[in-house]
Amino acid sequence: MFHRILVANRGEIALRVIRAAREMGIDTVAVYSKADEGAAYLELADERICIGPGPSSQSYLSIPSIIAAAEVVDVDAIHPGYGFLSENAEFAQTCRDHGIEFIGPEAETMRKLGDKATARDIAKQAKVPVVPGSDGLVQDEKAIVEVAERIGYPVLIKATAGGGGRGMRVANGRIALVNAWHQARAEAQAAFGESGVYVEKYLERPRHVEIQILADGRGRIVYLGERECSVQRRHQKLVEEGPSPGINDSMRRAMGRAAVKLAKAAGYKGAGTCEFLVAGKEFYFIEVNCRIQVEHPVTELITGIDIVREQIRVAAGEKLSFDQGDVKVKGHAIEARINAEDPARGFRPSPGLITRFIAPGGPGVRLDTHVHAGYKVPPNYDSLLAKLIVHAPTRQAALDRMARALDEFTIEGIKTTIPLHREIVRNAFFRKGDYDTGFLDEYLAG
Ligand code: ADP
Repeated sequence: MFHRILVANRGEIALRVIRAAREMGIDTVAVYSKADEGAAYLELADERICIGPGPSSQSYLSIPSIIAAAEVVDVDAIHPGYGFLSENAEFAQTCRDHGIEFIGPEAETMRKLGDKATARDIAKQAKVPVVPGSDGLVQDEKAIVEVAERIGYPVLIKATAGGGGRGMRVANGRIALVNAWHQARAEAQAAFGESGVYVEKYLERPRHVEIQILADGRGRIVYLGERECSVQRRHQKLVEEGPSPGINDSMRRAMGRAAVKLAKAAGYKGAGTCEFLVAGKEFYFIEVNCRIQVEHPVTELITGIDIVREQIRVAAGEKLSFDQGDVKVKGHAIEARINAEDPARGFRPSPGLITRFIAPGGPGVRLDTHVHAGYKVPPNYDSLLAKLIVHAPTRQAALDRMARALDEFTIEGIKTTIPLHREIVRNAFFRKGDYDTGFLDEYLAG
């Protein structure tokens, strides 16, 4: 097992990794930028090291700065968290070239799955259903029109290097399509340094359901049930729950098996997520996330499996200690992402000083956060402040518990998504489980 891990991230996920490592008897080194200097969560690591100024390009995204830090403090592994360098194959390779284990899949696996068009190809070869669309990247105007007319409008143009809900464009007809294709390529080049795009049928209001997987790279791959993530704004998740209220057991099993098949075909190792869209009685693969995800606690609460711990164990070469038959889903969990944003003003970021902070608690409530009263939310990074996750024997009880916990939760000084979550959890359609990826936009439009 590792002796010392460097956590190449910040905020709540850095703290989550520090907590797992501490319970495993592993020392941690936290890195921080000047913008995070003095943050209280950093004190919970065994050591701290500054890796540069506030902008992430010069700190949390700087491979040389992080590798230099890892060498100075002499760690045997790096946990990348999510976002930043977590899905960067070059970073994974550089870590390993320096004799430091990267806690994640092999660089080659990340390269293949990180390219969405290639991931689609792997899925197709593994006989996992994908959204109808192009075979690989679309090279010219003629090809895109052909694909669109074969699958029918509306279509969605996606950047193969895209992520975080960015790099997608819908086109409803031929003229719009050609324009959108040029724009999507230019945008993808500017945002991701890679102009490749592919096309999918734009599904009308699908549900987003994803499967958590764990693979030890020694032949064992298990899936840990699913998470429903259809409450989204701008294709970004806001609420997640498990099990999904929108699928039945046979789809659940079929999706789980599909995810395992795909992971096998890609030579997967570590924790990962296979994302699917569900439309009617069909499900379609959309992408793999080669990292721990924000919403992993939902799965931890319903399975009792500490995913970060398992991720660290398999990275250290240990076998998974359980098999598919040992995975039992118990009860229901819901997660609300508490962001420093103003939902009333288009989810505009709301950084600044938190003047009052009262955390919810009590039975079945988990709060993953690095913030507190007196914490100043820096403007530089993602706006996630806290994840409020509840667990209860039934979905109804989990909804009531979430409503109660949200009512207890007070954050003052900045705007947050707490008031919006209080409304969502009381919404009749949400409570019935009758919602899809169009739910939040429709709700906000009133
Ligand atoms: P990203 O990597 O940017 O998160 P995804 O491919 O995971 O992109 O898609 C994010 C969200 O965009 C999905 O959860 C869904 O709401 C929407 N989406 C993606 N593909 C389609 C599609 N073919 N039809 C309709 N909605 C889609």
